[in-house]
Amino acid sequence: MRVAIVTIGDELLVGDTVNTNAAWLGERLTERGVDVERVVTLPDRVADIARVVNEYRAAYDAVLVTGGLGPTHDDLTMDGVAAAFGRDVVESQEALEWLAQEGGYAADDLAAGTADIPRGARLLKNPEGVAPGCVIGSVYVLPGVPAEMEAMFETVADEFAGEVEHVTSVVADEPESALLDRIDELRDRFDVTVGSYPGDSVRVKIQGGDEEAEAAAAWLRERVELADIAETSGE
Ligand code: ATP
Ligand code: MG
Repeated sequence: MRVAIVTIGDELLVGDTVNTNAAWLGERLTERGVDVERVVTLPDRVADIARVVNEYRAAYDAVLVTGGLGPTHDDLTMDGVAAAFGRDVVESQEALEWLAQEGGYAADDLAAGTADIPRGARLLKNPEGVAPGCVIGSVYVLPGVPAEMEAMFETVADEFAGEVEHVTSVVADEPESALLDRIDELRDRFDVTVGSYPGDSVRVKIQGGDEEAEAAAAWLRERVELADIAETSGE
């Protein structure tokens, strides 16, 4: 399963807010064996959201969108996604009923627009907040507030699945440039995906079938200067 993540918010683009939602979703989806192929950040602008959601829903099995939901002036996520499907947004009776029952909110207490989702969308309740999310076609619309986004994702997590690959790492205490030949040979010898992440030391991340990945890691460990942390396994 191949997916794209679309995060929405002017504050993300200018660096006021660090985009932790993209990182969190990337990790959770990868854990489930899903291939995350795109992460994009868009401004709070309906036309941009509609255009990108449309492009990605055609290209990927699913699109996860996070960003402002609800009645605030800059919460344009639902409008943008609705526009991608050529639909309007309508107040969800199911959301209003749920908010009345679970949250103790009378419909009159809620700001207009709080329970709006695209016409025909499936409601996603917000376990940590008020504004609901939704699923329309293969597009999942989640809130921007990280705790709300995470809780809502968990309610649909089972809809995301793929083949989980074995991941292991070898941490080398050598300059990355010195490792190039051995990494090339590793990639020739074994059917694995290799990532190289330099920092104080170089973490070589090896991904593939259980036995193949471990055999590749063992081969490399014998051929590099291992850093003090020696090795990490299973991520
Ligand atoms: P609210 O109803 O409180 O406005 P919301 O669902 O409309 O919530 P936003 O308005 O987009 O969500 O953002 C709420 C908070 O979550 C803001 O502080 C925002 O910076 C933060 N936030 C939004 N997107 C992300 C993200 N991708 N990563 C981390 N934080 C984010
Ligand atoms: Mg908001």
